[in-house]
Parts: sequence; structure tokens; C-alpha cells
Amino acid sequence: MWVKDAILCLETQKNMPQPVFPRPDHDHDRCSAAALRHAEDLCEARSEKLTPTRRQVLEALLSEHKPLGAYELIDRLAATGSRPAPITVYRALDFLLEQGLVHRIESRNAFVACINNHEAGDLVVFLLCEICGAVGEAPSKAVAEGLKIASKGAGFTPKAHVIEIGGVCAHCRKA
Ligand SMILES: [Zn+2]
Ligand SMILES: [Zn+2]
Ligand SMILES: [Zn+2]
Repeated sequence: MWVKDAILCLETQKNMPQPVFPRPDHDHDRCSAAALRHAEDLCEARSEKLTPTRRQVLEALLSEHKPLGAYELIDRLAATGSRPAPITVYRALDFLLEQGLVHRIESRNAFVACINNHEAGDLVVFLLCEICGAVGEAPSKAVAEGLKIASKGAGFTPKAHVIEIGGVCAHCRKA
């Protein structure tokens, strides 16, 4: 019994490589490089192409743990090269969303890179800090279970896989 628990614990660690809200002074180069590597591996495993545009969009979103709107994203990309057409960026975003490498934050009409290795259809709980703008992606197994039970009881089939909750992150609360 405990062996199974230990494996489960290891798997949880593998899926959650860092805290929900990484410390402001964390090694972000390392964390964005790991996320990019994960994206490369995942695309290769699925025989999908991480084209230069798709990679640039993902890199721009990985530059910090804050969501970016499509036009902010275009501005970022324009700062490092030629200004991409919106349709090009939207297509790249569609691909990244489909692969589960990027999430859409409805309440902010923005996109954030996923730094957790989870299935594309998994329920995601976003904790949105109203002070620093950071977005934390919280583990959601228990929430997913609770939601399943509540929906089933109501004879309801949920379509969305994202829950967004506004509040104050641990780093801002301490400040
Ligand atoms: Zn980071
Ligand atoms: Zn995610
Ligand atoms: Zn904060």
C-alpha cells in the first residue's frame, strides 16, 4: 500500500516541479528553459512541429509568470524582430492551447504559459493575484473530483476546464 503512495507522491512531484507561485527571486531562466524543453519533447512525442513562430510565442509567454494579451504579445515579439501579423500569432496560440502548453485566462482576455506537465483536458485552477498580476496554477485533483460529483448530482456536463479565482498571492501578502 505504501509503495503505491510513494509512487503517487513521486508522480505528483514530477508534475508539480515548483510552488504554485514561484518566489519573486527564483531562478526563472531555469524554469523557463525547463518549460521550453518540455514543449520540445512533447511536440516531438506527438509528431507536432514547434515552428519558429510557435516557439517565439511560447518564449514570450514564458518570459514571466504573468498573462499577456494578444496585442501585448505582438508588442513583445516586435521588440525582438519584425512585427508579426495578428493572425500569425493567433494561429500559434491556437496550436499551443491545443497542445496544453498555454492556457487562456478568460477574465483577463490573456494567455499564460503552462509550467506544469499535465494532460491537456485536466481541470486547471488559476489563482490570479490582484496586486502583482502573477498567475498561479494550483493542483486541482480534489477540486476536479468535487466538481464532478456536484455536476453529476445536477445532471450537468461541464465544458470548461478552467476555474479562475482572484485574490492576493503569498508574496504580496507578506510585503
Ligand atoms: Zn519562473
Ligand atoms: Zn497547465
Ligand atoms: Zn502577488
